[in-house]
Amino acid sequence: MRNPFDNDERAAFRETVRQFIANEITPHADRWDEEGAIPWELHEKAGELGVFGFGIPEELGGLGFDDAFMRSIWAEELAFCGAGGVGAALGGRTISIDPIVRFAGPHIRDRVVPEIVSGRKGSSLGITEPGGGSDVASLTTKAVKDGNGWRISGSKTFITGGMTSEYYVIGARTGGEGMAGVSLFFIEWGAEGFSRTPLDKKMGWWCSDQATLYFDNVFVPADAMIGPENAGFMVIMNNFNLERLGLIAGSLGMAKVCLDDSIAWAKERQTFGKPLIKHQVIRHKIADMSAKIDALEALTNQLCWLINEDDMPVAELSKAKFFATKTLEFCASEAMQVMGGAGYLRGNRIERAYREVKVMAIGGGSEEIMRDLAVRQMGL
Ligand SMILES: Cc1cc2nc3c(=O)[nH]c(=O)nc-3n(C[C@H](O)[C@H](O)[C@H](O)COP(=O)(O)OP(=O)(O)OC[C@H]3O[C@@H](n4cnc5c(N)ncnc54)[C@H](O)[C@@H]3O)c2cc1C
Repeated sequence: MRNPFDNDERAAFRETVRQFIANEITPHADRWDEEGAIPWELHEKAGELGVFGFGIPEELGGLGFDDAFMRSIWAEELAFCGAGGVGAALGGRTISIDPIVRFAGPHIRDRVVPEIVSGRKGSSLGITEPGGGSDVASLTTKAVKDGNGWRISGSKTFITGGMTSEYYVIGARTGGEGMAGVSLFFIEWGAEGFSRTPLDKKMGWWCSDQATLYFDNVFVPADAMIGPENAGFMVIMNNFNLERLGLIAGSLGMAKVCLDDSIAWAKERQTFGKPLIKHQVIRHKIADMSAKIDALEALTNQLCWLINEDDMPVAELSKAKFFATKTLEFCASEAMQVMGGAGYLRGNRIERAYREVKVMAIGGGSEEIMRDLAVRQMGL
């Protein structure tokens, strides 16, 4: 569908990332996913493309400008490689960069941001704990003052990039109960008392690593705190907004993959003497998928425009997040039906999309939490 907000720069950016994905990722995505990792050079190649640099000053290695449309284009186009794990592996760092750029001291920010943005090093955001992820205000990892620093104890889990990152932004309790007692810290891999183990046997995102992190009385200096003491909760909540835009755009891309592959298959497959696409029931599935995708695409474009206008649409992002994953769930299921048994075999994009719907619907704010937030934003 034509986008009224499109311009030459965005069209050129889409074409550039499309070529990059077609040449550097798609031919290998299936194998990488089966092998459980992407090569590190891909982080560096994506870094050279500039896709980690939105909203980051040039002196820190960033692009020096931001554009929600371009962020969205990157996430959407990446879905066409057919393996969500590639986007997760590359993009895991993006949810930790913003707090570092905005709130870390210059001695940390100036050293690590260029490394992360260039793709030379990975970084992760650690909020979710074994005890829970949705209720961020109840996190239990504890930071206790010790001389000119803090001792951190506790555990984080499901942390994307957790096995390969050098740098971590984690939430820990520095005050009393609830949201007003949470602070953010910068921790480096190698700190004494910091260990990690991989999460194995996942439903999807096989080529992206998720880890459980353990902090056993880990010492960090006082200036490793990111942002003011006990003000971490709002930083975490604000950080979710652009993560959610990425998940919405990624879901849009995956839904388009489901539609494209359904159409291609339905044109080719013959049943009862004619191509599948000539059967009305199948035609209606295509129409339904296409209509939902159009609606999601229009909504995504509108959100990008609002974000660019500096009018962060928190309620609309929450609604769009569950609308996007419900759209994707519908399209993945219908596409699987169109494909029949062939869709059930490993090695095609529909099979993987069907498995990876759930991480989109749970990660970065689950459908239930998104509905709750949307209604709260309505003042109810
Ligand atoms: C592949 C993957 C990668 C991830 N990467 C990261 C990462 O990099 N960093 C990070 O910090 N986290 C990460 N997460 C964690 C993710 O953010 C959490 O899984 C998510 O926030 C949900 O938390 P939970 O799994 O603990 O579920 P819970 O919070 O235990 O909730 C369980 C279920 O109950 C529902 N629920 C919870 N509370 C309510 C309520 N009040 N009303 C109705 N329903 C409710 C939830 O929607 C969910 O369906 C990742 C998760 C996955 C699967």
